[in-house]
Parts: sequence; structure tokens; C-alpha cells
Amino acid sequence: MTETVTETMTTLSAGTVSAHDGNGGAAARPVILSVDDDPGVSRAVARDLRRRYGENWRIVRAESGADALEALRQVKLRGDQVAVMLADYRMPGMSGNEFLEQAMDIFPFAKRVLLTAYADTNAAIDAINVVDLDHYLLKPWDPPEEKLYPVMDDMLGAWCREERKIVPETKLIGHRWSARSTRMREFLARNRVPYRWYPSDSPEGERMLAAAAQDGRVLPVVITDSAEVLVDPTTGELAAKIGLATTPEHEFYDLIVIGGGPAGLGAAVYGASEGLKTVIVEKNVFGGQAGQSSRIENYLGFPDGLSGGDLTFRARLQAEKFQAEMVHTRHVTGLDVTGSARTVRFDDGTTVSGHAIILATGVIYRQLTAPGCDLLTDRGVYYGATLTQADQCAGQDVYVVGGANSSGQAAVNLALRGNARSVTMLVRAPDLTASMSYYLIEQISGIPQITVRPCTEVIEAAGSGHLERVTLRDLKTGQTESVDCASLFVFIGAEPRTAWLDSVVARDKRGFVLAGPDLAGDDLAGWPLDRMPYHLETSVPGVFVAGDVRAESAKRVASAVGEGAMAVMLVHRYLEQL
Ligand SMILES: Cc1cc2nc3c(=O)[nH]c(=O)nc-3n(C[C@H](O)[C@H](O)[C@H](O)COP(=O)(O)OP(=O)(O)OC[C@H]3O[C@@H](n4cnc5c(N)ncnc54)[C@H](O)[C@@H]3O)c2cc1C
Repeated sequence: MTETVTETMTTLSAGTVSAHDGNGGAAARPVILSVDDDPGVSRAVARDLRRRYGENWRIVRAESGADALEALRQVKLRGDQVAVMLADYRMPGMSGNEFLEQAMDIFPFAKRVLLTAYADTNAAIDAINVVDLDHYLLKPWDPPEEKLYPVMDDMLGAWCREERKIVPETKLIGHRWSARSTRMREFLARNRVPYRWYPSDSPEGERMLAAAAQDGRVLPVVITDSAEVLVDPTTGELAAKIGLATTPEHEFYDLIVIGGGPAGLGAAVYGASEGLKTVIVEKNVFGGQAGQSSRIENYLGFPDGLSGGDLTFRARLQAEKFQAEMVHTRHVTGLDVTGSARTVRFDDGTTVSGHAIILATGVIYRQLTAPGCDLLTDRGVYYGATLTQADQCAGQDVYVVGGANSSGQAAVNLALRGNARSVTMLVRAPDLTASMSYYLIEQISGIPQITVRPCTEVIEAAGSGHLERVTLRDLKTGQTESVDCASLFVFIGAEPRTAWLDSVVARDKRGFVLAGPDLAGDDLAGWPLDRMPYHLETSVPGVFVAGDVRAESAKRVASAVGEGAMAVMLVHRYLEQL
């Protein structure tokens, strides 16, 4: 039995976005579906959901997995969306896990919540891996204000923020195998800009190009929501068009944070919330490496894990809330020290100055040096695996290079979310134990599409216009094999890009920035003060470092955020002495 509890039509309640149809009108409101075989419980869940969300969402309830699947198919047929699915764990016929597993095929992006009794908690935790669960809720959930609504608010908020849920307004026309188009898609997606993607060789894409008076020879083409046509824009031009600030508002700040990953965002939140006039500058997209993580499971306070995109987007909102100024798509290429002023130079020669600087520039992926990889980067060879890229892999046989946690997460994501037909992990070591967390190894071993191929390296990538084949070598036997491959995701370690700090700030041999107790001897040759550098202070007073770019740092999200916060505390100490 299924029942539609409300039928109101309105905008989404969770805040930032509204549901629209493709023509700009209001669409049917998205569905929250609950399924529980106990009619009393089923009604109670629906009642509580209706009370808080009924005005803005359509609440559908069912009393068996089969009925709920049928209801989902109906919703799909009508072209409507499902935001959250809540399923009871213990149901006869079809368990909550089984239902969610099948429901994923119909609405892969709906958030999945399991309702469990206390005794079933372990099973629910297992389900986190099997059905990529977003949350489990212990029954009873009374009072809902404390136990049900915060979880639902979180799920709905996350669902709203993800770009695919929002009917797009900006249009992007490009070629699937064009590196520029890929970067543009990433840029829009990671900035949560609603957009619709049109392959240039599709009939719709051709129509769009004709409407924009373009012949398609120069791609990508962006048509903004105000119908402005941008032909192969830079990310800076696009950022400015979609309303992101690309220039600092002031000439002088208390604190300039360079780098918008977890460390920089942590510093911006703490700096601005503690009254420092703070600007944070990011050259690509706020979120840093963490923004590419499909699921961070070890960040304190999120037992079910959350995507790095979600985590860092929330951090970005938080920094904005405290009025940290966010400057997008600006590459810092120099640092000058004049008296107590610290001046940051951008690649276009403009500058901004401040009392204190926090360097939070992280690291970037090391590139595969095998022949062919360079030319095919972003045309099938990818560094990282973002959600947009994962979504392109449905039905494909894909390869992941590397044996650390980041490659493990990517493999899981490509298999479960991207629906790749097979995911082969290419690992140079004999197995994953030395480089990957135990929980991830376990998770991978439970996913049949994923195969680990140890003692293997990539020696060549080939294809005309885009990746078609890779050649692999067995490190034990020396045998080579050429395999068909449309997508190769590479995770082989990372390095800092700090050459621009040459002869200003002391670094170690690999380019990581030295700070506090790690500074010694020649590193401190120009140190002008009586006191020694504070813990995260570099060889230049008032210039601090946080996160992955710091020598000996932990290379984790939590430690990067913590160092960002700690660096701000030390900035205060420094400013008191100015
Ligand atoms: C795929 C993947 C999965 C991961 N999963 C986990 C996980 O599950 N748990 C975990 O704890 N850690 C994980 N990590 C590691 C974690 O993401 C990093 O430790 C963390 O992001 C480091 O934060 P950061 O701010 O120091 O640096 P980054 O995240 O690297 O951010 C640095 C930022 O600075 C910007 N920048 C660099 N140079 C300049 C410049 N000159 N001018 C302006 N901007 C600049 C960059 O564009 C970047 O956005 C993962 C990493 C990856 C890649």
C-alpha cells in the first residue's frame, strides 16, 4: 500500500535553491519516501515528516519494499525527483537494505536512510558500505525535533546543494573529450552552479550552438542564465559572470589566507569569526583536494561519512557567514616582505597586503610520466576522480592507479555511484595493506566490480583524441599487456607547488614549508626577532603555514582544519606584538 501524504507545490525549504522545470517554471516538489511494514510506525513517520516538511515536499509512504519500489517507478515515470528514502531495516519479504539497493537503481542520487532498532546498529553500519548509506536513524526517533529533523535537514540540504538536483540554468556546450570542457564542467559543479551539459555533437548541443550563433569550432561555449554567450572563457571570466568575486575589495587586511582547501577554510572561519579582517584567495575552486573526495569517513562528528564536496562547501558557507572575503580563481605567484607589511602578488601583477599571511596551498597530484599520459590528461587520463567524472563511467571498464586511501575511495565511488562495469586498481605493491586503511580494504573486497591488480604499472597511454588503451607491465614477470581503457584515474602521491616562495620562505628539499621547531640553522639566517618562530610560523615573522603544504604535516582533512585554526591563534599572538 502506498499513500501520498501531501500534494503541495512550492519551493524547497532547505534554503539555498528552488526547484524549477527546464523552462523556468516551478516543478512538482521532490518526494520524501518512507517505507515501514508496521502500519503504525509507517503512519507515525509520515506524520512527523508531514508536520515539518509537508508544505514544501511531497511525502510518500509505503508498507513494503515492493510497494515502495512501485511508488518510485511511478514518480520516475512522472519525471519527478526523490530527495530522501527512509527504509525500515527489518521488513518481511524485502529488507530495508535490499529495498535501498534496488531503489538506488531508480533514484541513484536520493539520500538513503535506514531506520533501525538499537539491536540492529551493527547491521546498519555494515549497510553503510553495501548500499552507500547516508545515515541510519535509531527507532524511536522521539522527539523528532532532536532526532529526526536535524538528520532530515542535513539530507535535504545536501541534496539541494548537489548540482544534479537543481534544474540547470547555465548551459555548457562542449566536447566530451576536450580538456577545457572537462575543466569547465568541474568548475561549475564544484562551485554548485546549476548548469546543463550539452555534448556539442548531440542534436540538442547543435541546436544550442546555432541559437548562440556559434559554429562549434571553438568550444566550450557557455550560455549564462541571462543568455550571455561566452566562448571558451577562462575560469576567471566565468567566475565573474556567475557572481563570484575575483578581486579583493580592500588593499590591506589583518589576515590573508592563500589556498581554499580545508586548512585555508579553517583559517578563514576562525580568523573572520574572531574579528580579523580576513581575505582568502583560491586559484582554482574552493575545497582543495578534499573537495574531490567522494566520501570522507574519518572526519570527527560524521560517523556515516560525508563527501568532501559537501564538507568543504559547508565550510565555505561558514566562512562567508563570518564575512571572510572569498576571492576566486586568483593565482598567487609572489610574496614580498616590507617592514611589517606582507604583500601577496597575483599572476597578473596586482597585489594585496596584510599584517599576516597563512600559507595553505596544499599539494597537487604527481603526474604519471608514462608516454601518452601528458597529451591525454583530462581526455581520459584524470588526476583525481570527481563526481562529474564518475558519472561518465556508467557501463565502462575503468582503471584506477595507486594503492592509497584516495584511490580506494575513488574505486568504490566509480563502482557504486558511477556504475562502472568494472574497476581495476593498478597497484605497484604486492597488496594494499601497507598503503590503505583497513576499513577501505574490507569495503573494496566486498564490491564485486572492483579487482585489485598488484605489482602492476602503467607504461603507456594511447588513443586518438582521447584515451583508448593503456599498456600495463607486470613488475614481477616483466610481461606487458595492452588493454582497452576509456578512463584512467591516477592517484600516485602529491607534491607541493611552492617554487614561488623561493628565497622568501624556508622549505625542505621537496618544497614543503618549514615552520616552528622544524626550522634550524640556515633556515633562520634572516630571522630578525629575539623570540623563536611560533609553532606554525615560517622563517618570515607573520607568515604562517597550515595543512598539507607544511613539512611533516599529517596530510589529513582534520589536521589541516586544526592547523588552520591554530595558525589563527598564533596570528593573534603575532599581531599583539606588532
Ligand atoms: C581524492 C582524495 C581523497 C581524500 N580522502 C581523505 C579522507 O578520507 N580523509 C582525510 O583525512 N583526508 C583525505 N584526503 C586528504 C585531504 O584531502 C588533504 O589532507 C586536505 O585536503 C589538505 O588540505 P589543505 O587545505 O592543506 O590543502 P588542499 O586541500 O590541497 O588545498 C589547497 C588549496 O590551495 C590552492 N592553491 C594552491 N596554490 C595556490 C596559489 N599559489 N594561489 C592560490 N591558491 C592556491 C589549491 O588550488 C587548493 O584549493 C584525500 C585527498 C584526496 C585527493
